[in-house]
Amino acid sequence: MDFPYSDQFEVNRKLPETGRSPSEVLDEMRIMAKEEDAFWESGKCSGTMYCGDHEHYGFLNEAFGLFAHVNALQRDMCPSATKFEAEIISMTLDLFNSQAVKDSEPCGLITTGGSGSIAHAVLAYREHARATRSVERPNFIKPETAHPAFDKACHLFDVELRKAPVDPVTTKVDTGWVQDAIDDQTVAILGSACNYGYGSIDDIETLSEIALSKKVGLHVDGCLGGFILPFGAQLGYEIPVFDFRLPGVTTISADTHKYGYAFKGTSVLSFRSKELRNSQYFYLTDWTGGKYCSPGMEGSRSAGLIAATWASMVKIGHQGYLGYAEQIFKTAKAMIGSVKSHPELRIIGDPTFLFSFTSDEFDIYHVNDFMKLRGWRFNGQQYPNALHMAVTRPQTQPGVAEEFAKDLAEAVAYAKENAGSSAASSGIYGGVMGGMTNEADSFIKMFMAEMMDSQMRIPES
Ligand SMILES: *Cc1c(COP(=O)(O)O)cnc(C)c1O
Repeated sequence: MDFPYSDQFEVNRKLPETGRSPSEVLDEMRIMAKEEDAFWESGKCSGTMYCGDHEHYGFLNEAFGLFAHVNALQRDMCPSATKFEAEIISMTLDLFNSQAVKDSEPCGLITTGGSGSIAHAVLAYREHARATRSVERPNFIKPETAHPAFDKACHLFDVELRKAPVDPVTTKVDTGWVQDAIDDQTVAILGSACNYGYGSIDDIETLSEIALSKKVGLHVDGCLGGFILPFGAQLGYEIPVFDFRLPGVTTISADTHKYGYAFKGTSVLSFRSKELRNSQYFYLTDWTGGKYCSPGMEGSRSAGLIAATWASMVKIGHQGYLGYAEQIFKTAKAMIGSVKSHPELRIIGDPTFLFSFTSDEFDIYHVNDFMKLRGWRFNGQQYPNALHMAVTRPQTQPGVAEEFAKDLAEAVAYAKENAGSSAASSGIYGGVMGGMTNEADSFIKMFMAEMMDSQMRIPES
């Protein structure tokens, strides 16, 4: 396999003997960045580029540059990091109506991303349950539609994961199943607002009642929806309450690096109580290098990323987020309308700003094959095979929703013609294959390992 850009640029197998001129280095990087940005600037790429506004990126770069060299772990040298971090957490808590909490002190933790926030939540629940309820064999219950980051966190922290089924029509978790699955070793349950797959919001109100009656934690995964659903609700879209106004909700994860329009590398984990957050604080008091403590799993942290996240939030402001949400919800509605105009296609569940669709007449990956040729990049799903589109700001550009409608109509015709043959593409999320549902698990894992290996491959000499 060709090594990326080996036809254009020198491949560095070891440090260049003498350094290169900064302008030459930057010129080379600019060529790659420009080429790669063209991929999503068209607005045809699902998710991942939530903001897509180069002016905003330029602004974030300046904010980042002011503090990029600073380690947020050494706070005596950077009180600004304390200001930025505290204010990011406070603004996020406010968005989730933490003022409704009267019996404890709401607080938060900035992590490196959605998976980081979820891992810290699982760790906090495990540690807290061990300390307060002597739980030694912790288990955690997630809807099967919830993000793989929960499986990973439970795997890392040796917590048993129980997966609750969802209603095949609404795609919301079976709350009765969750209730029955809770036992004396359950540390927390989970609902998504919204889930990545279908954009559906689990019945958080019922989960909250269950959590209170069974005295377990309730995490709300707002990694994706956290910074857009509250604005959608204000715009009048039908979005049920999922935040701290529900008394059973104990933690909420929300990714500033998604609809917070900040750089990749930050997320906020909000806690209903300080006691829960602090249960996962780490201390080493007798180390020869000195006394050590860290609020989360990271040691050194980039003050630059925290600063840029803060800058994103205060620059955009409430009205800014509301305006972007309005455009995104409107575009999603138009695109969902296009899907619904084809009787051969079916929207799964009851989505808002992201949607997933399948077909009962042909393999939906035929539609993907065709749309790919037109430059569209969806995320592929399985059980059932489906295509997923998270609408972001690049799709709100004029003409994109119209182009989607036009290309989709042709794709449906193509899929009908080719219904007898098998489709070329399959479900991929962050490099994870969907459509290969008939292969042995060990074979799929080998395939996935090869893909990850290849993403980290060392250039051949
Ligand atoms: C993106 C996402 C996550 C995981 O976040 P990362 O930032 O990719 O680690 C978790 N839950 C949902 C619903 C997500 O969309």
